[in-house]
Amino acid sequence: MTTDTAEKSLPNAGAGHAGRLGVAPQAAPKVGFVSLGCPKALVDSERIITKLRADGYAIAPDYAGADVVVVNTCGFLDSAKQESLEAIGEAMTENGRVIVAGCFGVEEERIRDAYPGVLAVTGPHQYEQVVSAVHEAAPPLHDSFLDLVPAEGLRLTPRHYAYLKISEGCNNRCSFCIIPSLRGDLASRPAANVMMEAERLVKAGVKELLVISQDTSAYGLDIKYAQSQWKGRALPARFHDLCEALGELGVWVRLHYVYPYPHVDTVIPLMAEGRLLPYLDVPFQHASPAVLKAMRRPAAQEKTLDRIRRWREICPDLALRSTFIVGFPGETESDFVFLLEWMREARLARVGCFRYEPVADAKANDLPGAVPDEVKEERWHRFMAVAQEVSEKRLASMVGREIDVLIDEVDEEGALARSQWDAPEIDGSVFLNGETCVQTGDIVKVRIAHADAYDLWGERS
Ligand code: SF4
Repeated sequence: MTTDTAEKSLPNAGAGHAGRLGVAPQAAPKVGFVSLGCPKALVDSERIITKLRADGYAIAPDYAGADVVVVNTCGFLDSAKQESLEAIGEAMTENGRVIVAGCFGVEEERIRDAYPGVLAVTGPHQYEQVVSAVHEAAPPLHDSFLDLVPAEGLRLTPRHYAYLKISEGCNNRCSFCIIPSLRGDLASRPAANVMMEAERLVKAGVKELLVISQDTSAYGLDIKYAQSQWKGRALPARFHDLCEALGELGVWVRLHYVYPYPHVDTVIPLMAEGRLLPYLDVPFQHASPAVLKAMRRPAAQEKTLDRIRRWREICPDLALRSTFIVGFPGETESDFVFLLEWMREARLARVGCFRYEPVADAKANDLPGAVPDEVKEERWHRFMAVAQEVSEKRLASMVGREIDVLIDEVDEEGALARSQWDAPEIDGSVFLNGETCVQTGDIVKVRIAHADAYDLWGERS
């Protein structure tokens, strides 16, 4: 990024993105896009960009070239809100014609107090309002023949993988979270819509679909598992049926944000049969029953270790990834030690850990027993040491194995790839030093030669 104001790049509009977003007619109004937050927000941004491109807009790679800038914000944690405010501030300074979208948009007053000149503030899922605000700020050209977009829409991820959002909102009420009040209750997409989007993505070259939502295992509950027509058959909007159908597409299918409800057991055989990746992202957040109860976590009453053991009997190669919070109000030393022992027994492949941070308006703020910052810090380090020990052991056992990997990047020094047990952005990599005869998106067989605590090194076999 240059310091020259006139050429300052947008944070997520690199040359690669601009290239994929296509070339619009010269006179088309240009929209700059800044997307903050989680993959779900990224999917929202993709939807908005797709609609804007279909309406004839071009995407500006820098602030100076944009007729208007949309900042898609995150409003989950205070730190995310701060980051959103800073991003709005940067867009105001660099361009001055700014529309705010996304979760932080619910705090319109705060945004307008800080930046009275913003053109519009819209909230989560208000795609139409964002698009209308852009139309108002920079009226579109009407040339539907020149402004065609690819059938799969426009994406911010590389060409070979894509996020597939199956629902919005959440019916749970975890005490530390305000997502349900920002994004509303669970609203599942009809199964046929999800499948048609997945098919379009596969046709466009996607090799890996990453299924996301706030609570993937609750899919369809709100629409009573309604059936919709896909490929001449009635497909229920049910977690298992959707997973089975996605497994027919012949690409890697990875499940994120799945809670350990009993009905999740039924998709494990699909993993053992190679129809889904042997990977489950289960945001456990803690293991101590007392802390889970205070967090009001879904499926907290389940005997999770027994469940994990059963899953591994069916699919021995299953990799579990998860996130945890340490220093939650009321977490005692014995709760924390319980968590560490649970971690060792659960043998999670990949973990992320956050020090508890209060979120404005969350119920957890009223809980007694705040944990001092230095204790949170100390527990975070102890947690990460155990996580590293578990990961190191697991990756060492991979040495000598022949596995499939998906190529993410290639340069003159070699290729960067991922195994079936690693999601993009959040998990580890497989380095193929000197391997230049492959292309991004290829799936190749490699033999693992070396491992450290987080990554693997291999050679084509
Ligand atoms: S499951 Fe809990 S943490 Fe996740 S979105 Fe729903 S309420 Fe928030």
